[in-house]
Amino acid sequence: MPLDVPVRDEFVALLGAGDVIDDPVRTRAYECDGLTGSRVVPELVLLPRTAEDVAGCVRICAAHRIPFVARGAGTGLSGGALPVADGVVIGLNRLDRVLEVDPENRRAVLEPGVTNLGITAAAAPYGLYYAPDPSSQQVCTIGGNVAENSGGAHCLKYGFTTNHVLSIEVVLPDGSLVTLGSDSAEQSGPDLRGVFLGSEGTLGIVTKVTVRLLRTPEVMRTLLADFGSVADGGRVVSDIVAAGIVPAAVEMMDALAIEAAEGATGAGYSLDTPAALVVELDGTVEECDEQFALVKEICDRHGCTRLHVAGSPEERANIWRGRKAAFAAVGRISPDYIVQDGVVPRTRLAEVLDRISAMGDEAGLRVANVFHAGDGNLHPLVLFSAADGETERAEELSAGIAELCVEMGGSLSGEHGIGTDKACSMPTMFGTDDLAVMDRVRAGFDPDRICNPGKLLPTPRLCGEKPGRYRPHPLEEAGLIDRL
Ligand SMILES: Cc1cc2nc3c(=O)[nH]c(=O)nc-3n(C[C@H](O)[C@H](O)[C@H](O)COP(=O)(O)OP(=O)(O)OC[C@H]3O[C@@H](n4cnc5c(N)ncnc54)[C@H](O)[C@@H]3O)c2cc1C
Repeated sequence: MPLDVPVRDEFVALLGAGDVIDDPVRTRAYECDGLTGSRVVPELVLLPRTAEDVAGCVRICAAHRIPFVARGAGTGLSGGALPVADGVVIGLNRLDRVLEVDPENRRAVLEPGVTNLGITAAAAPYGLYYAPDPSSQQVCTIGGNVAENSGGAHCLKYGFTTNHVLSIEVVLPDGSLVTLGSDSAEQSGPDLRGVFLGSEGTLGIVTKVTVRLLRTPEVMRTLLADFGSVADGGRVVSDIVAAGIVPAAVEMMDALAIEAAEGATGAGYSLDTPAALVVELDGTVEECDEQFALVKEICDRHGCTRLHVAGSPEERANIWRGRKAAFAAVGRISPDYIVQDGVVPRTRLAEVLDRISAMGDEAGLRVANVFHAGDGNLHPLVLFSAADGETERAEELSAGIAELCVEMGGSLSGEHGIGTDKACSMPTMFGTDDLAVMDRVRAGFDPDRICNPGKLLPTPRLCGEKPGRYRPHPLEEAGLIDRL
């Protein structure tokens, strides 16, 4: 049912006509996030400028039971910010102020639309930085990072968003504004901040975040090492960890990913190597020197064919530019692709990559791999051509890879979330009772189920009965029922 005019007028009265978008050409810009295969044009897009306005928008939604979806930069890769038909999108980009940097207590207070890299930019003059660093960090927002509990290359050593967020101010689905967590590290009672972190926008809208800042390391040593196979690279990762070293980052790229990234950035990766590892160490000079010697020895032991050490901050930035551009660069070698995100025990990396390669061959599709090897967090990129009718096969392969990770003792998602993409795969990882508990937690925050419905948990009786991707119910296809 389309939203009626009086409801639209309520939003306009609150925000002003300029901040309520209903022109179908402009609302189309919000039809998807980074999972571009799923698109729904929202009825209205609301662009509040203050937390109070966000609360006002949500109160109107609650009064009329209108579903709403929070949106940061729309870089999510699991369909978390996919609009709900007949619902509104609440865009948080205009809440983009750094409210405070407190170097003495090593904290920053931010509005949700501040970009991840913007936090470090604000902290850098004090010799501080914000550790979690998604590859999308130039554009993704701290609100989206909180919702997805985002990670990044340096989370191996420093942990995920949840380890760096002290407190959040949120608008609950009834429109009330509350603070979860506390700016002092200790607090009493259940950790509702922790419940909210990673809840993918299903429990409310973040309007303010207090994060922990870290001191910029004294030195960083970054090396790029080539290997004869991904398996050899995997063994290097295991041996580094077994030697008691916790690198700041260990990233792996296979030949296809290198081809794409190097073509886009010219960062200096070898085009004739089956696998490359980026290893970064940070800390004091003595610590880094000692660990670097050990890492080099381990690389040599596993047949490293080329080892390049960044000799300057520019060279380091260049190595990272290649790695961080890899997802987007894959667009150079394939018209369409799906970025998958799963986790496997680090010791099973080689085995899983072989299985993925075999699954790709069977599906007749190429799979590029670029991943956080130290965490066992895979990002297989399934390449396909929608114009050649390969979409369904690619989606099945992508879902199959995620479920393979669960079979291997890992997880359906490392950092990109479940969203709409993998909601129907949740029963492969969780039993009915577990899912029921999660649903009750969600209902505790949102009894009317208007806050980002259809995300994270399988929709009962439509896709939740069988693992796998969403399949429309015959009654839904006949137009007799709607998907909630
Ligand atoms: C090229 C590329 C590289 C990436 N690399 C990484 C990576 O290394 N690590 C990683 O973890 N992710 C990565 N991502 C995924 C993505 O950038 C992250 O999930 C990011 O946190 C999303 O932030 P966003 O602001 O774009 O959120 P959106 O995509 O707009 O939204 C994501 C989810 O957060 C919710 N949300 C957004 N803002 C709020 C808010 N204020 N309150 C409540 N809910 C909210 C939305 O409803 C949605 O469910 C990458 C994406 C791309 C395109």
